[in-house]
Amino acid sequence: MADKRPLEYVGTRTAEYATPLERIAVIGAGQMGNGIAHVFAQSGFPVTMIDVSAAALEKGKSTIAKNLERQVKKGSLAENAPADILGRVTTETSLEKASDAALIIEAATENVELKYKIFADLDRVARPGAILATNTSSISITDIARQTKRPENVVGMHFMNPVPVMKLVEIIRGLATSDETTHRVVNLASQLGKVPVEVNDYPGFVANRILMPMINEAVFCVMEGVGTPKAIDEVMQLGMNHPMGPLALADFIGLDTCVAILEVMHDGLGNPKYAPCPLLKKYVAAGWLGRKSGRGFYSYS
Ligand code: NAD
Repeated sequence: MADKRPLEYVGTRTAEYATPLERIAVIGAGQMGNGIAHVFAQSGFPVTMIDVSAAALEKGKSTIAKNLERQVKKGSLAENAPADILGRVTTETSLEKASDAALIIEAATENVELKYKIFADLDRVARPGAILATNTSSISITDIARQTKRPENVVGMHFMNPVPVMKLVEIIRGLATSDETTHRVVNLASQLGKVPVEVNDYPGFVANRILMPMINEAVFCVMEGVGTPKAIDEVMQLGMNHPMGPLALADFIGLDTCVAILEVMHDGLGNPKYAPCPLLKKYVAAGWLGRKSGRGFYSYS
């Protein structure tokens, strides 16, 4: 595959392109991975979506198809666009297939050891000069970068859920991240129609440093019987003008991901206020992970 265009070619729709854009690889086809693949493919980039699970790849691709159809119904996408966009997304189960990508974005499960292993492998597989980005919600970019011999090319690119809808991308520099790498991902995020905001590398960055304590406190309110999940969510929606209550949002994010983020913040910041609520941990232990498992604070049958 000839990759002729510079990564951050300024343009928005493929039909206008005379030569192909450089390839993007996305590691993980879960709710974030398929959303990231969706927005890059919609902006004209060929995308390789890689997951260890063939079933996750199948589900990820059908989620992209469903979300594109929703955009057509809303009138924000031309009727014939989904086929082209989907045609730019290929699926693979081997990390080796990321070797021709100019940018690799890791969006696998929020687990420190797993991400370290993926970045050590990516360092071996990725072409020289490729940018290695992570969509981690909380894990140190500096620590992830240390797993590679190219820490200057490693950066946090934290998309929000659902990716095709949400405007923000938190851009997180590790201690060794170069100005050039930061500049390139800032430009790329803008090219996707997103708003990049640069923040520093501390556990949870800004988004989850502020969001997770609120979600955790809402779970304590459930545990202590201060209110039902519905009552707590209504208070925050109607009283604070939040579009979603914290418990519905936790179900949407995934309760396992919420626990993982809080644990990283608790370990990294050393303050007991970040310790995940025992009820949140109990739900995860029971397999009640929120929307993705069909049950969390609410039922989704
Ligand atoms: P998810 O559980 O929906 O998907 C994770 C995917 O990673 C699964 O399909 C799994 O099979 C795959 N995976 C596991 N190990 C892998 C490996 N070695 N190689 C390739 N794929 C592998 O999780 P998610 O909600 O999409 O979260 C992914 C990342 O994005 C996490 O780091 C999370 O913290 C972050 N994030 C999540 C949200 C959210 O709202 N859920 C928002 C922003 C960022």
